[in-house]
Amino acid sequence: MARYTGPNCKMCRREGCKLYLKGERCTNGKCSFDHRSAAPGQHGAARKKVGDYGKHLREKQKARRYYGVLEKQFRLYYKMAEKQEGITGTNLLVLLERRLDNVVYRMGMAASRKEARQLVLHGHFTLNGKKVNTPSILVSAGDVIAVKENSRENDKIKSLLENMATATTPKWIEKDVANFGAKIVALPARDDIDFEFDEQLIVELYSK
Ligand code: SF4
Repeated sequence: MARYTGPNCKMCRREGCKLYLKGERCTNGKCSFDHRSAAPGQHGAARKKVGDYGKHLREKQKARRYYGVLEKQFRLYYKMAEKQEGITGTNLLVLLERRLDNVVYRMGMAASRKEARQLVLHGHFTLNGKKVNTPSILVSAGDVIAVKENSRENDKIKSLLENMATATTPKWIEKDVANFGAKIVALPARDDIDFEFDEQLIVELYSK
């Protein structure tokens, strides 16, 4: 399964905002963006006028990188969003939020989406009682995500479960600490997505 393996902090500098890709480091005062926010590269610090296309492109890249999705898959989400009823931009963000790796992150089980993706890939979770190891699976309302029974004694997982117990989750995810997991009580709404996106720019980019 293809994934981005380059430096994460560079992506924040490129997008001009913190994308929170490295877990604790992003909030503990060690974030490199807090000290050096210029775009990467030799001329990164020079002010560049961003054209109309650039503005649209950057917004798409920001969303893609925030959720850790490669271009091909991102475009597939866009096509799915277009076919759904409602506002395409909102549909797109909701689809991205519904990815299992994002849900594991939102549950408070991982410090970053990257870590959540690893946990899913290593088969530590079940979805509605069945083992899953595909980070891109989309959850639906009523789904139950839990740590697989024989992963519950793993020291690392135990400490992540402790983190989950104290984490704040969005209202569409209901933690069930006693059962080592959470339930999706509803699909996320646009208001539940607490990161600044101008999704209309992404729609306009793909509609050109
Ligand atoms: Fe981005 Fe986190 Fe790196 Fe800061 S520490 S630049 S928020 S990935």
